[in-house]
Amino acid sequence: MSVVIAGAGQAGFQTAVSLRAAGYLEPITLIGEEPYLPYQRPPLSKGFLLGKQGIESAALRPESFYAAQRIELITGARVQRIEPQFRSVVLSSGARVSYKKLVLAPGARVRTLPLAGISYLRTCTDAVELKQRLNAAAEIAVIGGGFIGLEVAAAAAVLGKRVTVFEMQNRLMARLVSPVVSEFFRRVHGEHGIEIRLSSPAPDPRADLVVAGVGVLPNLELARDAGLPVANGIIVDEYLRTADENIFAIGDCAEYPNPFAGARTRLESVQNAVDQGKTAAANIAGRNEAYRAVPWFWTDQFDVKLQMAGLSGGADREVLRGDPESRRFSVFYFQRGRLIAVDSINRPGEHLMARKLLASGAVLTPEQAADESFDLHTILA
Ligand SMILES: Cc1cc2nc3c(=O)[nH]c(=O)nc-3n(C[C@H](O)[C@H](O)[C@H](O)COP(=O)(O)OP(=O)(O)OC[C@H]3O[C@@H](n4cnc5c(N)ncnc54)[C@H](O)[C@@H]3O)c2cc1C
Repeated sequence: MSVVIAGAGQAGFQTAVSLRAAGYLEPITLIGEEPYLPYQRPPLSKGFLLGKQGIESAALRPESFYAAQRIELITGARVQRIEPQFRSVVLSSGARVSYKKLVLAPGARVRTLPLAGISYLRTCTDAVELKQRLNAAAEIAVIGGGFIGLEVAAAAAVLGKRVTVFEMQNRLMARLVSPVVSEFFRRVHGEHGIEIRLSSPAPDPRADLVVAGVGVLPNLELARDAGLPVANGIIVDEYLRTADENIFAIGDCAEYPNPFAGARTRLESVQNAVDQGKTAAANIAGRNEAYRAVPWFWTDQFDVKLQMAGLSGGADREVLRGDPESRRFSVFYFQRGRLIAVDSINRPGEHLMARKLLASGAVLTPEQAADESFDLHTILA
């Protein structure tokens, strides 16, 4: 009896790879609705839009890899429903596939707006279409000043387009970064000629192309229809198991008890998809491993790399390390004196250090964080 993985994105792919790496010998079936080899999404809004890399380079592995690893990859096929009582899934073709363990990794889909003619960016198909429309357009309106919207805006500006970003909140990336970081990015985009309209929901009707990046909705239907509990995601325990001990859920669709948030959360990041894939594989292979990875994320806009470690949501104090004018700085977030997150701008070394600090639970004071002459390594030593 095999492991069946529903969803061949970052998380589903990682589960299959990690199972084989752990020496799991039984059949693995990886089923994906999209007609492509499993691929990573980050390049779609970065290198690919900029014309720096072809769409094929987003593939996580060449086709030959799957045969060599004895991973049965079925693409262009939807898992239509789960039959938990028979431990089987039914595909869109009508075929039935039995499982010993089932991993749900169906990801998320874009939130859409009730407006016609808008472009979105989630899949390879979206990216190829958006690139064509971008090439043909002179004026672009981007709805949503979050990561995806801003990456698209940056790529469009580099390609010489006139870009306006409409953001409903009063600052950019408001959900995830501090006002200092929001303001820094507003300035960077402004320097590249992008007009940022804050507190402004309306798109520019005169634009040749309107792109919306207004968030995603987790794909919960499979789980819900099978009677599994769902909330803002498919609910799993710390071992990433759903209420059915034979069914795991991971990646963008999963809501799990997050020790860094002190609550159940659902994260949308490559790190979370990869690390949850690893944990699910470890647990299927018989280890009892709780998921405790430090959350991290990155975004590239122009020559600026923002890397985030931890979750800053509950912060009651923010400390700046370095000068935003230098375009290299970090913001350290504290909650009741304890470090909970670090956002680093063009400081990859500090980002890696932050991940280690958060994983180790080492004690860093706000004063030490603010003092650039203080060597962060000494905390870990
Ligand atoms: C343009 C873009 C840029 C991004 N950039 C970054 C970045 O810079 N850094 C970062 O950390 N994160 C980034 N992300 C987020 C990151 O890509 C996601 O968090 C990650 O892909 C989640 O992996 P997943 O496997 O959970 O979901 P997905 O990658 O969405 O994969 C799920 C797959 O399951 C398929 N599926 C759904 N339902 C079914 C079904 N019933 N049967 C079969 N298949 C099904 C879907 O078609 C999809 O292919 C970006 C996302 C996008 C869209």
